[in-house]
Parts: sequence; structure tokens; C-alpha cells
Amino acid sequence: MADEIVISVSVRTLVEFLLRSGDLDNRSAAASEDAMLTGARMHRRLQKAQGPDYESEVTLSWQYVFPDDEPGLVPQGGTRANAVLLEGRADGVFTIAPQDDPNGQKLPAIDEIKTTYRDLSKMTAPEPVHLAQARCYAYMLCRIRGLSQVVIRMTYCNLDTEDIHYFYEKISAEDLTAWTDALLREYRRWADFSAGWLQLRTETIRRTVFPYPYREGQKELAEYVYRTIVHRKKLFLEAPTGTGKTLAALFPTLKAMGEGKAVRIFYLTAKTVTSAVAGETLELLRKQGLRLKNVTLTAKEKICVLDRPDCNPDACPRAKGHFDRINKALYALLTESDNFDRAKLDAVAEEYQVCPFELSLDISMFADVIICDYNYVFDPEVYLRRFFDAGTTQLSGNVFLVDEAHNLVERGRNMYSAELRREGILQLSQEADREFPGLSAQLQLCAQAMQRLSERTAERAALPGGTVSFAERDHCTAQWTAEEIADMTEELAKLYAYMGRFLEEERRRARRRRRKLSEKRRELRKGILEFYFELDHFMDTLSVLDDCYRIYTETGDAPGSFLLKLFCMDPGRRLAAVMERGTATILFSATLLPIRYYKKLLGGKAEDYEVYAHSVFDPGKLGIFIADDVTSKYTRRGNGEYDRIAAGIAGAVSGRHGNYLVFFPSYAFLKQVGDIYETKYCDPARIDCIRQNPKMTEEERAAFLSRFETSSDEHSLLGFCVLGGIFSEGIDLRNDALIGVVIVGTGVPQVCAEREMLKEYFDAEGDSGYDYAYRFPGMNKVLQAAGRVIRTEDDVGIAALLDERFLTPAYQRLFPREWQNYTTAGAEGLGHLADRFWSEWL
Ligand code: SF4
Repeated sequence: MADEIVISVSVRTLVEFLLRSGDLDNRSAAASEDAMLTGARMHRRLQKAQGPDYESEVTLSWQYVFPDDEPGLVPQGGTRANAVLLEGRADGVFTIAPQDDPNGQKLPAIDEIKTTYRDLSKMTAPEPVHLAQARCYAYMLCRIRGLSQVVIRMTYCNLDTEDIHYFYEKISAEDLTAWTDALLREYRRWADFSAGWLQLRTETIRRTVFPYPYREGQKELAEYVYRTIVHRKKLFLEAPTGTGKTLAALFPTLKAMGEGKAVRIFYLTAKTVTSAVAGETLELLRKQGLRLKNVTLTAKEKICVLDRPDCNPDACPRAKGHFDRINKALYALLTESDNFDRAKLDAVAEEYQVCPFELSLDISMFADVIICDYNYVFDPEVYLRRFFDAGTTQLSGNVFLVDEAHNLVERGRNMYSAELRREGILQLSQEADREFPGLSAQLQLCAQAMQRLSERTAERAALPGGTVSFAERDHCTAQWTAEEIADMTEELAKLYAYMGRFLEEERRRARRRRRKLSEKRRELRKGILEFYFELDHFMDTLSVLDDCYRIYTETGDAPGSFLLKLFCMDPGRRLAAVMERGTATILFSATLLPIRYYKKLLGGKAEDYEVYAHSVFDPGKLGIFIADDVTSKYTRRGNGEYDRIAAGIAGAVSGRHGNYLVFFPSYAFLKQVGDIYETKYCDPARIDCIRQNPKMTEEERAAFLSRFETSSDEHSLLGFCVLGGIFSEGIDLRNDALIGVVIVGTGVPQVCAEREMLKEYFDAEGDSGYDYAYRFPGMNKVLQAAGRVIRTEDDVGIAALLDERFLTPAYQRLFPREWQNYTTAGAEGLGHLADRFWSEWL
């Protein structure tokens, strides 16, 4: 049938969506999340222990056709969903002889395994949502295999004791059909809405055209993006400022969506400012009549109605009864607006008294474009599981657009690494001592195991080659294999299991409790939960360790301070596995050079596409000067060098009054040179200097940037900042708001244990370890900082690089082609270069 509209939904999503009720409670979520993760391993064990006729992980799908005459919401011109494609994966399918059958005749059976920390002896019936999930599988099995009767076995397994409790239900296909009909009748209005929306979305996408005349090269970029989606690949796209990359990525992806080649777009960003640009781009397209639903996900800490999230009915009024009201709130939001921005989410959450963060996550199921931080897709702890459930075809429609993708290397490393600190464990043990002596004792045991490992660390570090030495610090660092720290990880596993039980118990107690907890106790519980999440991440990471990881320990400056870390050296493999959850991934940035480095560390394969777009700006409008007699190298640091650098800054900004940013390798460096510059070279009547500081609030950052909104031909403003910090990328100071940057040093990260491990690792991989650990990340910061100057076609400005190392071939080969016409001078001669440059343009 030409007009047939089928809406896909996973069984799990369906039952959780329709059958949820009651409070939001992250104390139980923690325990059940843990049960889910540990449970995956237990599942496999239970499945393996079954008989030969037991089929594990059976993928099931069935197209349920709606009856014609049912009432429901019919939006957008009367279009209705004809059918729902139910998809899911049953834990097991086997045969069993029901006890009530005198002939012992075997029936087909569905096994649904659930792992928990609950006391199974107190369970009298399966959880309704679990049973509903199993019934859906049973229904699908009956339809697929033409069965008239089936047995449902709910297998509950206690993760701690490994006790197993079964619940059985023998049910006819007829009864299952009646039950499924009722369930899907409830779902119909949502399916109808999705169907109508899909049609409207497709029609309006087809009518939407590129909103401007294409800039030079922009059309080719858009074509590359489109082709990548069609060929289901990854694209690594270096697109300098001015190429209009947000639109060049979004527009063709929408077009692909209109042709059914994409179902949902994840626009992934590292910073809020880039997510705002994506939202504005969609608004621009909406002006043409495009109908598209988009949501911008805001971090829980920012959108929460409390000062700090504490998601349980005792602490948060929105959490109480949240699930009783959430579907009404969703429905209102869905039918009232297309752009689910922060203001809209706040308003609807307020009206229906639900959690705004959970509302944003739930509405994302109905959004065509989800604008969010990388975390929501890549982070193993917080990724949006609802979209990436195994066993559904929905994965095939996801397209990931990764903006400012150079950030994903370090972000990936952080997401896939895990660490625990002894001092944190000890502190929690002390805090829990009075109220939870059992937990406190378990934490103590762990801290003691860490103390023993700390002593071994000192011993190992004392061996020749055992210590990585650092400037100005006296830490001991040692690397270990997983076997060598087995005692430690066993102790952690015991603590982990104990805490799983403890949290489950706590949740039960909280349900029975009449009185509210004191503030102090609430804080303690929150601290316990936060630590539990850290431990959970650690145990999870431990279970996936491979040769991309190093295990290392480090003793710290403070007495007793000790770190145990699982350090992910190369996040590429895990990032690539996540990207498999989508049809195509477009990774784009203004600075993705050298592309082979990013391709390797961001999970690219040889056959994935790579494109380098030309800058659309006249390269002559950016004056690049290199000082050939100064450096930020440690071996040369001292007052003489600082003075020469200060003189270089003075020269670079002397050609024209206006606004400049000056970037330093560290705050200490900033202070040394900044002080000299201000006392010796700065005329306060004509030049203002302001400084970034390490603990700026959002208001202070905004105030700092607001100073650049005005400029003068008779007065200069110099903003002293650190390279790689908040002002060196992601800020957009156009025209005269910024006429130059001065960059001191090459941006290479400080030597430390982790960088040295990276160097060693990539050397062993056959790459240049120094480049991968130091030079490439440093040069990226330099390119980002220099990229602040030319933001529009009309901009003219300078970038002065104050380090002689930029003149070596190792750096020169990393220069973008627009930088080939740089000029050099001694630091004190930069003034002449600046004068000459500005005399051409002013
Ligand atoms: S409003 Fe805040 S504390 Fe309440 S449930 Fe939502 S995130 Fe948690």
C-alpha cells in the first residue's frame, strides 16, 4: 500500500513508556542500573547454563496492524499510523512442560531474565513492566511461529547471592492478542501523531532550499556530507571558519532525512555556544516553512529546579509522582511546539510539575534533531540508552553530526578512563561511620587495600625506570597489569556488591520512612550515591580493558593521597563502536589537522572519507608573524626570556590600536610575563590589560568578553588568557572586536605521567609518540586561538607566534596552507612587521 505508515518501536521502550507510574527515584535507578550492567554478565551465565534446546538472545519483530475504526488523535491532515513494527530481543526461547499438564507435554516458552539486588524471598509477583515486556515477546513468538499457547517464565536472579526465583504464566495466543490489542490501543495516539508528523516533516523538507547563495566550496561540502550518509560511512571534514560548516552539515542531512535515508539527527557539541548555533540554523530553515521538531538537551545540573540535583521524592517535589504526570506533559509539549528549547521545557515542566531534565530526555524520543553534548551519545554512563537498545532496526536511521570534533579526542579519553582516589574513599568512610557502620567498614577495607597498593607503588617507582619524573613535583607513578592488582580489584568488587545491596535496602527504607531526613543525612546519602556512580564506572571500565588501556597508580603531594586509574590511551576503538549505532557520522572542525591523527583517534577506518575545505577568506588579511628568538621551553625560562617575550607582545600590538588576545602556556607564565609587560611596556593611558583567572564564574567570563564589544582607534585592550582555555576557542569576536592574537609558546601540554605514557604507547604503535602526545594537541590549541581573528570576510588582523620552534619543519608541516606567507623577526622587531602589515590595510 503506497500510503502505509509504519512506526517502529522497541518493546522495552513501549512498555516503559506506557506503564510507568509513581516517583522518580535515582536511589532505585542506581541499584537497577547497576543490576543491569552487572546483570549483562549474569544473563550470559544463566543462558549458558540452560539445556541444548534453549535459544539465547532471540531477535523478534512483528508488524502489528491497527484496526481501522479506532479513535485516536489524528494530527496534521488526517494521517494515521497503519501499523507498529514491534522489535526486541527475548533473553531466551525454549520448551517446557507446564506443571499442570498431566501428560508432561512441552510448550514453547519465553524466558525473561531480570537481575536485581532485591531479596527474592519477599517477591510475590513479577514487576508489571517486566511481565509486560515478556508478554510482548510471547505475543510476537505466537504470531511468528503460529502458536496457540505459550509459557512465560520470569527469571529473577539476585546478583549478590545468585539465588534464582521463577514466576510462570501459561497463556493462550488469544489472551495474548487481547492483551496486546489493549496495550497498543493506548499507544495509538502516539503512533498516529508520529505518522502525521513524519508525513508533514517529509513534505516540508522537500520544499526547503538552501537559504543563501552557496559560499565558495560550501556546495561541495554539502555534497560530501550527503554522499557520506547515502554510503553509510564516516566523513572527517576540516572546514575553516567562514565555510558555513553548520549549515553545510545540517542541510544535506535534512535532505537525506526527507528521502528516508535518515530518521534522526544527533547534533553533537562540546560546548553550549556551538549548540546555540545549531539551534539558530534550524530556526533559519524554519522561516521557509520547514516543520521539524528539535530539542536541545541541557545538563541536569543546569536545568534542575533545585540548587543541586537530588532526584528522589524525599528531596525533590518534582520527583514525587513524576511518572504519573509525565505523559500528559509530553503530550502537551509535543502538540504545542516544534522547538523544545530550554524556556519551553521549563514552562511545561512547571505546569505539569515534572522534572524538566527527564522531560527533555523523554521528548527527545519524538524529536527529529537532538542537539546535545557528546556525552549523550558517547559516554558509557550517560548515553541515551533509549535510542541505542540492541535488537531494533531504529539504529539504522541515526546520523551523528559531531561539531568541533577535535575536542572528542580528549573528551573520549576522559569518558572511557576511570579513576578512584583513596582520600575520597577514606573521607566517605569517616562520614558514614555513625549512621552506616557496615558501609563504613567496607570502605575502610578498600582504603586499606589502596594503602597496600600505594606502598607497592613507591617500591616499584624506586626501581630503575620505575618512576616518571616531573618538574617541581615528587609523585611516584607505577604501571600495572590487571593481574598484578587483582587483590585490589577484588576488594573493589566486594565493595561494589555491598553498595548495590545497600542502596536497594535504602530505597526500601526510604519508602517506609514517614519523617523527612535532616539536611546532613541527605548530604551523606548523596555523597554515597555519587561515590557509587564513580565505582560503577570504574568496574564497568575494568570489564572492558584492552590493549588501549594502561593501569597506573600515583601517590600525591598530600600525605595518604593515592590515585588508581584505568587510562584510555586511544579512544578510537570505543568511539567507533558507538558510531556503529548510527548510519553515518560526520566529524567536522575548523582544525582537524593532521587528519590521519584525528582519523586514528576518533575511530576512523582507511575507507572513511576525508575532506579539507579551502578557506573562503583572503589569506592576505591575516598577518602571521613568527618571533625567531624567543621560546616558552622550560630550559629557557627566566627573567631575560620573559622580558623578551613581553617586548614581543608590545611590538605585535603596536601597529594598530584595538582589541587583542594574548595567550600564554599557563597562569604562572601569564603572571610572569604579564607583570613585566604592564610595568615596562604598557602605557596605561593608551592600553588596558585584563586577565583571565582560573576560577571565573559565568558572569565574570561574560564580563571579560563584553569588554571586547567596543573598540577604539586610540586605545587598546589586551586580554591575557591561557592557551587551550575558555577564551581560546568557541568565541566569536567579529570585525573590530578582535584585531589580533599573540600566542606565546607552541601549546604543547606539560610533561606528566599520562603524556609520557601516551608517547610510549604511540611510539610502540609505530606512530611518532611525541607528536601524538604533545605536538599535535598543542598545535591544535594554537590553530584554534589564531582562528579567533578572522571571523568574517571583512575582518583583517594579525596572529603573532612567539616561539622559535614554529620555524622548525616539525611545526611548519602542520601549518594550514593559508599560513604559508608568514614573516619572521626577532621579538623586538615584531613592531616593524606589524607596522608594515597595517600600513597595507589601513
Ligand atoms: S528537578 Fe532536579 S532534583 Fe528534581 S528530579 Fe529533576 S533533576 Fe532531579
